[in-house]
Amino acid sequence: SELTSPLTIKVDHVDFSYSVESKQILNNLEIKISAGEKLAILGKSGSGKSTLTHLLRGDLIPDEGQVTINDIKTSDLNDEIDQYIGVINQVPYLFNTTIANNLRIGDETASEDKLWDVLERVGLKEMIKRLPKGLDTLVDEAGLRFSGGERHRLSLARILLKDVPIIILDEPTVGLDPITEQGLINTFFNQLDGKTVIWVTHHLQGVDSMDKVIFIEDGQIEMQGTPTQL
Ligand code: ATP
Ligand code: MG
Repeated sequence: SELTSPLTIKVDHVDFSYSVESKQILNNLEIKISAGEKLAILGKSGSGKSTLTHLLRGDLIPDEGQVTINDIKTSDLNDEIDQYIGVINQVPYLFNTTIANNLRIGDETASEDKLWDVLERVGLKEMIKRLPKGLDTLVDEAGLRFSGGERHRLSLARILLKDVPIIILDEPTVGLDPITEQGLINTFFNQLDGKTVIWVTHHLQGVDSMDKVIFIEDGQIEMQGTPTQL
């Protein structure tokens, strides 16, 4: 099944708990996300934000209600979901192979020119050009010299190559210093223009560039609006 753009995501009356004994994490949650919308999701630690991202990707299945993209349940899309949704989280996963191979996970056929192009877009071109082996540098070697922010930029480059329409950022900037964090937020929003962005964050820094902000508490939307309304 090929979904055709524009892609609309619906979280439709969703209840979720991890097991019958454990507490209900999401309680009759309803969210509609239009194509190209920039949505920030805030909420206390443990409020269910990451759980929601797993439901969006179909990795978890609601107890009640459904999560759909263009009326298809995300859990029915299986691996196909990777064509539609890319995720960047706090600990970007890099593979123990070359920088080029790490990027080509996004697009196996990408030319070297294309790799340099995305590296430039995420602000890593100069740094990688200076490495003696360039794109052939092994990431386990390079891991020693890649900072947290640089790893996130690499992970963003991979997602840009794949060119998915929906990007979930699950607190990708937690633990970075404020200047690195702001630089990364700017890169995300410059490069993800036109895509649907769902950005899970602990704090308000950067949310003014979003279309909508929702606060989750007790499994429900406690408050929502545009950044200026809040
Ligand atoms: P944070 O801001 O700290 O990342 P969060 O809003 O992302 O928090 P979740 O990770 O979604 O919160 O967790 C919501 C609740 O579900 C928490 O009480 C957590 O302990 C519980 N939980 C998360 N993952 C599991 C799991 N795999 N099995 C059982 N309970 C879980
Ligand atoms: Mg979380």
